[in-house]
Amino acid sequence: MMTEPIVPQSARIVVIGGGIIGCSVAYHLAHMGCSDVVLLERDRLTSGTTWHAAGLIVTFGSTSETSTEMRKYSRDLYARLEAETGQATGFKPVGFIGVATDADRLEEYRRVSAFNRYCGVDVHELLPREVKNLFPLARADDILAGFYVKDDGRANPVDVTMALAKGARLKGAKIVEGVSVNGVLQQRGAVAGAQTSHGTIQCETVVNCAGMWARELGELSGVSIPLQAAEHYYLITGPLAGIGRDWPVLEDPGSYGYFREEGGGLMIGLFEPVCAPWKVDGVPKDFSFGEIAPDWERMTPYLETAMARVPAALGAGIKKFFCGPESFTPDLKPIVGEAPEMRNYFVAAGLNSIGILSGAGIGRLLAHWILTGAPDTDITGINIDRLQPYQSNPEYRRTRTVESLGMVYQCHYPTRSMQSARNAKRSPLHDRLAARGAYFKDVSGWEGADWYAPIGAEAKIDRLSWGRQNWFPYWRAEHEAARSGVILMDMSFMSKFFVHGRDAGRVLNSLSANDVDSEAGRITYTQWLNERGTIEADVTVTKFSEDHFMVVASDNAHRHALTRLRRHCEGAHAFANDVTAAYAQINIQGPRSRELLRPVTSANMSNEEFPFRGAKEIDIGLARVLCVRITYLGELGYELYVPIEQATRVYERLVQAGEALGMKHAGLQALASLRMEKGYRDYGHDIDNTDSVLEAGLGFAVDLKKPGGFIGRDAVRAKKAAGPLKRRLVQVLVQDPEPLMFRAEVVVRNGKPVGYVRAASYGFTLGGAVGLAMIDADAPIDQAWLDAQRWEVDIAGTRYPARASLKSMYDPDMKKVRV
Ligand SMILES: Cc1cc2nc3c(=O)[nH]c(=O)nc-3n(C[C@H](O)[C@H](O)[C@H](O)COP(=O)(O)OP(=O)(O)OC[C@H]3O[C@@H](n4cnc5c(N)ncnc54)[C@H](O)[C@@H]3O)c2cc1C
Repeated sequence: MMTEPIVPQSARIVVIGGGIIGCSVAYHLAHMGCSDVVLLERDRLTSGTTWHAAGLIVTFGSTSETSTEMRKYSRDLYARLEAETGQATGFKPVGFIGVATDADRLEEYRRVSAFNRYCGVDVHELLPREVKNLFPLARADDILAGFYVKDDGRANPVDVTMALAKGARLKGAKIVEGVSVNGVLQQRGAVAGAQTSHGTIQCETVVNCAGMWARELGELSGVSIPLQAAEHYYLITGPLAGIGRDWPVLEDPGSYGYFREEGGGLMIGLFEPVCAPWKVDGVPKDFSFGEIAPDWERMTPYLETAMARVPAALGAGIKKFFCGPESFTPDLKPIVGEAPEMRNYFVAAGLNSIGILSGAGIGRLLAHWILTGAPDTDITGINIDRLQPYQSNPEYRRTRTVESLGMVYQCHYPTRSMQSARNAKRSPLHDRLAARGAYFKDVSGWEGADWYAPIGAEAKIDRLSWGRQNWFPYWRAEHEAARSGVILMDMSFMSKFFVHGRDAGRVLNSLSANDVDSEAGRITYTQWLNERGTIEADVTVTKFSEDHFMVVASDNAHRHALTRLRRHCEGAHAFANDVTAAYAQINIQGPRSRELLRPVTSANMSNEEFPFRGAKEIDIGLARVLCVRITYLGELGYELYVPIEQATRVYERLVQAGEALGMKHAGLQALASLRMEKGYRDYGHDIDNTDSVLEAGLGFAVDLKKPGGFIGRDAVRAKKAAGPLKRRLVQVLVQDPEPLMFRAEVVVRNGKPVGYVRAASYGFTLGGAVGLAMIDADAPIDQAWLDAQRWEVDIAGTRYPARASLKSMYDPDMKKVRV
C-alpha cells in the first residue's frame, strides 16, 4: 500500500513527471549541485510511456551534432550508472546494425556514418555476409550493406529510470509519487509555484516532463507544447531456436522493423509509414502502465513485411503484440527549453521514440541550462520556441502525426518537406505564385515557393533523390537570372517586428552588437548576443525615426527573437509589435533590379539618392511601400514591405514592369544557392547559440566602440584580446562539379577530419557544391594558412578536393552590391 505522499512547501525546482526524462532532469540537477529539487509523479515512476519502451540504445543515425552527443552521453552514463547507484540498468552493449537495402538508403547511411564517425561514433560498414554472421537468422540476400556500432545495444528502460531516480535521491533530490501537478502559479510572467493534488509548493522553476500529458498541462498555463501521442508497436514471438542472447540489435527501415532478442524469442518493433494518432482530444488522466488494443488490420501488412527479414519468426508464434502511446512532435525533434510564454517554465517532452536512448543527454542539457542560464550545445533545432501555438490545434496534431512517426524509417532526403498539415499560412501572393508554377514547401507553416516549373512543365518532384532531381535545371535558371538579370522572390514569411517608443533605440542598441541607432532611413545587419558573446539572433534593424524601428528575423527565429526583444523592452518606453502578418515582403534582386523599379515609382532610385543600406517609403502605383536597399543573395537588390491589402496590386505592377526585362520568379532553392555562394549566414542552419560572433565571421558587424555598449561586449573584447582565432566558419567549395552537398558532410584537412559542413547548396556561378563549415585548427586560421592546407570533403564515403575561404568566393569586394 502506498503511504500518503508528503509534499514540501517549497523547493527551488519542481520537476513534473517521473518517466525517464523527469528522472534524468532531477538526476542531473542534483549532480550539478542543486539538491533543492522535488520531482512529482502523478502515479508511479515509469507509469506513462517509459515502462514499455523497447530499450534500444543507438548512437548511429543522426546528422545533428546535438542529438549525436546526447546519444553518446546517454549510452556512456547508462553503462556506468550501476556502479554509481547500485541499481542495474540492464545495459548490454550487444551492438547495433542498421541495414540498407536500396541505393538511396545506402547513400544516406554512408553520409550519416561519415558524420557520426567524426562525432566519435565507432561505426563500420559491413558486407551482407558480415551482417549474416552477426545475426544469422536474418535474410541477407537483398542487403546492400550494414552499418555496425559495436558499443551500442540495449537497456532496460524501467531499470535505467530507477537508477537515475536513485542517483538523484543520493544527491539530495526528493522524489514523491502519487502527486499530480494541477497548475503552475505565476507572478509577473514568471513561475512562482506549483499547485498539486497535495497542496501548493512555492518554487522558482518548474520543468514540465509530463510526457504525452505535457501539452495539456502546459495549456493550463497558456504554454503551447504541440506534441501528440501516437500508437507505437512491437511484437514478441515465442521461443526461437538458434537465437543468441547477445546478438546485436538489427534495424531494417526498408521493411519497417527493428529486431532484437527478447526472452529467447524475437522482439520486432515497427515504424509504419502511415501511423495513427491516439487520443487527440486528451490523454486520460488515469492511464497508467496502460496498453492500447492493437489494430491488427492496419498493422498486419507491415508486420508481414518486417517478419520477412527474419523468416524464422513466422513459425515462432506470437507471445505478445504490444501497442503503447508515444509522443510525437511536428518536426520529429524534441521540445526542450524555456517556454516563451512564461519565465522559468521549462519543458522537456515529445521524444519521438528516442526518449530512452537520448534521455540522459536531454536531462544533462536542461539541468545545465536551468542552473547556468544558458544551454551549452546548439539548441536551435530543439528549442521549444521554434514551434508555434497553432501547431497545438487538434486538426494540426491529428493530421501531422499521421506522417511523423512514419518519417522515422523513411529515407531522409534533404529536400523533402513534410506533406501533412500544409497550407496553414499563405502569403497574399500564393495563388499568383502557384499559377506561375511554384512548387511549395513548408516554411515554418507558410507555403514557401521552393522553385518554379517553367511553362509547360508540372510543379512536381518526379523522384526524390540525393542527386540532381527534375527541377535542377529550373533552379539553375532562377539562380542565373538573379546573377545576370532580375528576379522576384516572395519572402512574406519573414518575421517583422515594429519597435516604438522613446527608448526604442536604446533598447535595440543594447541588444545589438552593431550600432543600429545612428541615422534614420538606414538598415543595419546585426547579431543579438548573450553575455558569453555567442549568437542569440541574426537580424536586420531599420531605423525609420528616433522612436520607430523595424526588426526583421528569419521565419524559424520568430518566437526566439520576439521573446528576447519583448523581455528587453520591459521597464523601458519601448514596445514591440509583431507585424509579420501585416506586410508582404517582395524581393526584387539582381543587377537589373533598379531598372525594373525606376518606371514603377516616382522615387529617385539612383545610387546617390538611394545608396546600399538605404530605407525609405516609396510609391508603387496606388500603394505606399517601404523599400529597403539590401540583399541576401549578393546583388543590387531591394526588399519591398507592402501592406497586405496592397500586396497583389504591387505584385502585378512589378510583374508587368518585369516583362520587358525578362524578370524571373525565383524560389527558396535559388535563395539558398545564391546566399551560400556569398557566404551569408543563416541562424539555426549554419550559425547557432554556441558560436562566438567572431568565430562565425561576423566581427565586421560588431561595433565595440559604440556608446553604451551592448550585451556580450565584454566577452567579445576578451575573445579578441585572447589572440588570433583557431576556430572559424569557412566557406568550402567542392572542385568537382558533380557531387551535391546538403549538410553534415565532413571536412578533411591534410587527410584528417577537422569539421563538418553545417549548411550547403549548389553554387551555379562558382561551379560546384558550396557550404559553410566550422573548422578547428591547432594554428591561427587566416587565408594564408587555409591556402597552405589540402582540403577535401567526404561525401557519402568519397573524398573530393575542395577550396576553403574566409571571404566570400563570390564577389568578395562587394562590388556587385554597391553599384
Ligand atoms: C512501443 C515503444 C517502444 C519504444 N522503444 C524505445 C526504444 O527502444 N528506445 C528509446 O529511446 N525510446 C523508445 N521509446 C520511446 C520512449 O519510451 C519515450 O520516448 C520515453 O519513455 C518518454 O519518456 P518521458 O519521461 O518523456 O514520458 P513518460 O514516461 O510518459 O513520463 C511522463 C510522466 O509524467 C507523469 N505525469 C503526467 N502528468 C503529470 C502531472 N500533471 N503531474 C505529475 N506527473 C505527471 C506520468 O505519470 C508519467 O510517468 C518507445 C516507446 C514505445 C511506445
